[in-house]
Amino acid sequence: MPTFMAVSYPALRGSFFAKAQRARKKLKTQGKPSTVCALFFSAQKAVGNRPEVDYFYHMDKISRETRSRNMANIKGKNTKPEKLVRSVLHGMGFRFRLHVKKLPGSPDIVLPRYKSLIFVHGCFWHGHEGCKRATIPTTRADFWRTKISSNKERDAQNLADLAKLGYRCLIIWQCEMKDTAILKQRLSTFLHDTASLS
Ligand SMILES: [Zn+2]
Repeated sequence: MPTFMAVSYPALRGSFFAKAQRARKKLKTQGKPSTVCALFFSAQKAVGNRPEVDYFYHMDKISRETRSRNMANIKGKNTKPEKLVRSVLHGMGFRFRLHVKKLPGSPDIVLPRYKSLIFVHGCFWHGHEGCKRATIPTTRADFWRTKISSNKERDAQNLADLAKLGYRCLIIWQCEMKDTAILKQRLSTFLHDTASLS
């Protein structure tokens, strides 16, 4: 069996790690080839679409290319927090477009009528300042620091470009979504302010 590298990251201890281990065992008993990708995706299936999954992969077999594809997938669109924001917005009667590629940063949610955008940011990937979910892992710390800071730079550039195009932007962090009532309030304040501007 290949050896796996688990990074000392709070989320890896406890249930995530246990689930990933179970997924790995299950694959083995089913006689499936224990390729990294299969394990990777089964771990992803076990715990959901979370950046932590990225910390659990086989370092030797996976190619750099596959790894970056996996990471893109994990970072990807239609995450749970994003879906929640969408359903709250929809319930409030707002209509919107998703992942508009022609705009800088391909914003998650676009409300053309309000000339407004909403980004739903994962705390880890977008480097939420002072957030415990944004802790840099101790293994390959430099890699992650560079990666996250370049993500942050890109985000800032996108926001500046969007502002130049006349869009108002709201960023909702993954950690700010526990209370749906508060989320609803924020969305309402943001969009009603926007409405009064136009
Ligand atoms: Zn956060």
